[in-house]
Amino acid sequence: MDLDETQIPGGVYLCQISDSISCGACCGLYNVADPSHENLSALLENRTDLFDQTPRDFDSLSAFALTIENQENQERPYPEFHHCPYLGLVGNNRNRPGCLLHPLGKNNKNTDHRGLSHWGGFACASYFCPTCHELPARYKKILRACVDNWYIFGLALTENRCLGTYFGMIEKLLGHELVFEEVQNNTVFQESVNRFLNLKTTWPYRKKPFNRMGNYFFKDDLYPRETIDYEQLGCTIPPCDPILQSLGTWCRDMTELNHAIQNIDDMIHDAANTLD
Ligand code: SF4
Ligand code: SF4
Repeated sequence: MDLDETQIPGGVYLCQISDSISCGACCGLYNVADPSHENLSALLENRTDLFDQTPRDFDSLSAFALTIENQENQERPYPEFHHCPYLGLVGNNRNRPGCLLHPLGKNNKNTDHRGLSHWGGFACASYFCPTCHELPARYKKILRACVDNWYIFGLALTENRCLGTYFGMIEKLLGHELVFEEVQNNTVFQESVNRFLNLKTTWPYRKKPFNRMGNYFFKDDLYPRETIDYEQLGCTIPPCDPILQSLGTWCRDMTELNHAIQNIDDMIHDAANTLD
């Protein structure tokens, strides 16, 4: 992204937040057959190695994409969501995901090569996901302060309804809005938030096999989430429904659903208790 703060929705930048934490979800980072941390790290590392040896001319950069596509499994949970082969690792120590074609990228000499991407350079430079537009600024700032690794950050970040519900339920328990300045140095609260974000990878209440850990967050309804049939299970819609849905919840019966809801409620109380 190349915009200044006044052009960023809500004034809180989420795409690159520190030397080691960034997102790459809209470049399709998690839209791979194996979205584990281990596999994504290896895949990004390999691309970055190859890109280092690639001359920055049109033919070589185009050939780079073809080589990567031939090397990697092209099966995707969301086949119509483009996964960009030019997403690699950036930073001095290659410790966060980022665009290898960006003008500030290593050896790119301020030349913007993103015109080679599937959606074109303008889209790459100006797109903001629904979370950027829709999540209240205080939640975005808190998220930035809490998150401790790029993998979970990008995986959880696009779940704006889930995050809004989570922070909103904490606020309801507290009886007031969360204040960034009051949590920015509260490591116990931050650990609690991270435990919640980690549910994206550890949530047990899912239909197996589960291949939708990443989120399809575009608003064209191409891949709607499976809804939970609460009526059939025997209850009304719980307040944490957006969280359950974003985690891909599937429960066989009411006992299992109660456990799932209790799990979420415990996490919300856990975070609120750190602020009492
Ligand atoms: S998904 Fe959102 S936060 Fe992540 S890089 Fe794209 S626009 Fe930025
Ligand atoms: S070229 Fe565009 S889509 Fe590809 S990694 Fe760069 S910013 Fe993302």
